[in-house]
Amino acid sequence: MFACKVRDHIGDRQYERLRKILRESTGVEIGSLLSTRNFLREILHLDMVHHHRCPENHIAYCGKYERYIKCPYCNSWRFFEHSKELLPTDDLSNPVPSRPADEEDTDWLPFHHLKPNAIYHYIPLIHRLRLLYADATSSREVQTYLEDLKEKSNPNEKRDVWDGRIISSL
Ligand SMILES: [Zn+2]
Repeated sequence: MFACKVRDHIGDRQYERLRKILRESTGVEIGSLLSTRNFLREILHLDMVHHHRCPENHIAYCGKYERYIKCPYCNSWRFFEHSKELLPTDDLSNPVPSRPADEEDTDWLPFHHLKPNAIYHYIPLIHRLRLLYADATSSREVQTYLEDLKEKSNPNEKRDVWDGRIISSL
């Protein structure tokens, strides 16, 4: 069922609804999305990266936004409203200032214990490449894709970035 979800782009909520319907109508227990993803992560040796994000997807709270507590585009709070009073600082500027230099700790963030409104998950590039090369079919596709594309070239058609003006000029 998880393979169908991925292949047919079934959303997480729809997947969980289908899982519940199947369980109620057939008695068959299908693993939850969380347990299935954790199982796949473990056997495939994948690491996921998690960053807090704006609920409207304007930013991920990393890089220059790491210390922000509100989205600079829509002003939505980074954390659940009831968590704001838990911030160990009265300074709610955006971004929250760093800890004083005499207590400097590179991993320190004043809100690491708070619950974010939304999280952005992604699989790092090296892990995606590892996945592509783990499967014989996708590995062959990756290795022959560009050659196949060049063979079927049509100057009047843009099929992907490889047909773009900049890449073509390289
Ligand atoms: Zn936003």
